[in-house]
Amino acid sequence: MTAATQAAEFDILVIGGGINGCGIARDAVGRGYSVCLAEMNDLASGTSSWSTKLIHGGLRYLEHYEFRLVREALSERELLWANAPHIIRPLRFVLPHQKGLRPRWMLRLGLFLYDHLGGRKLLPATRTLNLANDPAGRPLKDGFGTGFEYSDCWVDDARLVVLNARDAADRGAQVHTRTEVVALEREGDIWRATLKDRESGATRSVTARLAVNAAGPWVDRVLKGALKRNDTHNVRLVQGSHIVVRKLFDHDRAYIFQNGDGRIVFAIPYEQDFTLIGTTDRDYEGDPADVAATEEEIVYLTEAASEYFRKPITRGDVVWTYSGVRPLFDDGASKAQEATRDYVLKLDEGGRRDGAALINIFGGKITTYRRLALSVLEMIEKALGAKGPDWTATALLPGGDFPTTGLADLEAALARDFAFLPRPLVARLARSYGTRARDLLAGATSIDDLGPHFGADLYGREVAYLMQHEWARRAEDVLWRRSKLGLRVSAEQAQALEAWMAGRLDTAAPAERNQGA
Ligand code: FAD
Repeated sequence: MTAATQAAEFDILVIGGGINGCGIARDAVGRGYSVCLAEMNDLASGTSSWSTKLIHGGLRYLEHYEFRLVREALSERELLWANAPHIIRPLRFVLPHQKGLRPRWMLRLGLFLYDHLGGRKLLPATRTLNLANDPAGRPLKDGFGTGFEYSDCWVDDARLVVLNARDAADRGAQVHTRTEVVALEREGDIWRATLKDRESGATRSVTARLAVNAAGPWVDRVLKGALKRNDTHNVRLVQGSHIVVRKLFDHDRAYIFQNGDGRIVFAIPYEQDFTLIGTTDRDYEGDPADVAATEEEIVYLTEAASEYFRKPITRGDVVWTYSGVRPLFDDGASKAQEATRDYVLKLDEGGRRDGAALINIFGGKITTYRRLALSVLEMIEKALGAKGPDWTATALLPGGDFPTTGLADLEAALARDFAFLPRPLVARLARSYGTRARDLLAGATSIDDLGPHFGADLYGREVAYLMQHEWARRAEDVLWRRSKLGLRVSAEQAQALEAWMAGRLDTAAPAERNQGA
């Protein structure tokens, strides 16, 4: 048999288990394509867990005339909220008018467009605030008069990725974590990929009719490394950092502050007891895996927020920082903050119309991942032939099968049925797992049934669920991506968790663990 007539094991190989790779894998398998996804670390361990966690139109992008992006992003807000009402919720943003910066008329015009450009049915409209008497004015310095309040949504970014992977696997996709694509070669009209298990070092090969390079900030590295290409300078890596401090205010709204340099900084209620402040924009060189908030960025963020808050934020207030790298399409913009946030898809057919196709993804937002997947699927249909219709607009993500505004009811029902659970734990399980919290708790009638305690409100039962159904392998997967309990457990507790998980790794067969079955 010649290579050109060889049958491939999969229709599609997806490289990268961030939001884009998992969203594409889910959409494709749901249409009937056979899909293999390889992620070199943990799901969402790249940029997709280091975002500001907003499902937003991006008010600031209006200034750069990115109307297409803003309209598309705005219209995704309520759709995604309806599909995942456990991990996505509405959030109101308070924008204080600051004398000497953008004038009131400009803010009003921007917010008018924001209210009307994309579909908005459940999210409330913009309103004007008098910060002198509104509770949102209390934590702020004296002198702020007018403020504006508008709607966007908040998302647990890492869980959004994992739930897309879970749904893809439930529909038949193979999802392999800790598996790096180290080589990708065309053999006639199919791809032969070498996959390396990063834990054992073992390699194996798979074949696919089409490959999708969804490696985020590593997209050019995959082209250079796995494909041995040297003509790739498409991605502009832009670092963004956040700081986390103890809760700065008592209400549930977020702030969007204008900074003197034209940038904006968010201060967002975070994980009940904290406030998240971010972000920055600076060009980045080096391995995206090594990115960390610099001292300069930390100081910049404390100073920017201190311009607004009555009580200044000092370096000593910072309890945690995180940093991620935006894989932006390099459109030649001079400043990092001005580079387009829109996505660009590039089809590479290896110079032959009948050759195995490769789709490279540049840029994109968490917010627009579903729309990006739709565009990729259009390209896939052209290359491989159409299978099923597009279906993701109304498809609920795992655990999201309850009414869009029904999270409080779900929490109340769980509290009633599992009355032994402390209420904050019920709330966390409802917000993380939605209706699947019942699978996790099945049969438990007392706290002792939840197994060993690892600190905060983390028990063995939840960890075992995460290992069995959500590809968790290491303590950090549980503490920093499936949850943010890392903010609350000690180093000793994290070590005990690591040891407990290591002891259970071999209980699942490799194929089973890779598919998260
Ligand atoms: P990634 O999440 O990085 O996924 C790529 C994956 O590919 C990685 O997990 C990596 O390990 C894997 N990989 C790489 N090479 C290989 C290989 N050879 N084999 C196998 N796997 C490989 N967007 C919003 O909508 N809202 C926001 O509020 C927001 N805030 C942001 C704030 C910051 C500071 C940053 C940095 C970004 C923000 N974004 C936001 C943008 C958003 O986070 C990114 O656009 C998105 O996460 C990119 O996802 P991705 O899947 O393309 O990349």
